Amino acid sequence: MTRQVLVLTGKVLPDKSETKEQEAREHLVSEHCLYLTPGLYVRLDQLVREHAGMPLAVFDLDERRSGVLEPMDWAYCRPAGDGRPGCSSGKSSAGITTIEIANKIPLDEIRSARRLELDLVRDIPLELFYEWLVWHEIHHSVHDDPLVAAGLDTCGHPGIKSAGDRIKLMQAMELEADRTSFYRLFPEHSLMAGTPQGLQKVKEIEPYLQLLHEIRAQRGIKQMNPPVDNSLAHR
Ligand SMILES: [Zn+2]
Repeated sequence: MTRQVLVLTGKVLPDKSETKEQEAREHLVSEHCLYLTPGLYVRLDQLVREHAGMPLAVFDLDERRSGVLEPMDWAYCRPAGDGRPGCSSGKSSAGITTIEIANKIPLDEIRSARRLELDLVRDIPLELFYEWLVWHEIHHSVHDDPLVAAGLDTCGHPGIKSAGDRIKLMQAMELEADRTSFYRLFPEHSLMAGTPQGLQKVKEIEPYLQLLHEIRAQRGIKQMNPPVDNSLAHR
């Protein structure tokens, strides 16, 4: 049995009798779920602080899902005061101030998730799954992607002519975040969609990466820290 020791505030509150054992066991998988252990949390929090300049918060998946979640919403990044659960501040913010991850991830959702190029079971080992997810959110956070997405209607870039363009731009954000997080973990590997339909979709989205970069440049792009050394990435 796995005791729930992670709470909404992002603080780790281990039962004292289990602290050492849980910290030693960074990867914990049951028949149905992958769990965020205290030991893994500590390492990922360090990663987020170093590369996104904020602490890593944790939410209780069951509690959050008493509302409505979209598929693969095992993690978020968002600005403070956007009105969603977990925001403590009512003020508006110029940037992303929160990265949150779920305390557990159902394995069947990992198996059934559809990404543009990644097969999450084939490409991301379960013991690195949380880390991949955190790098994905760091990428969104560093580029203010939620804010860029929210401003697509009003940014006035001549390259955005239709709702279809806006959808493609948001897909381009996902494509780029998936690629960045994958190459953080596996810089020596190459990534490609697994089916002809997938390849076609990626081909349609790729031209929007340039447009996305131009739109971000209008806002000013924050610099991402250089890749973490592999001893940390693979530990
Ligand atoms: Zn994403």
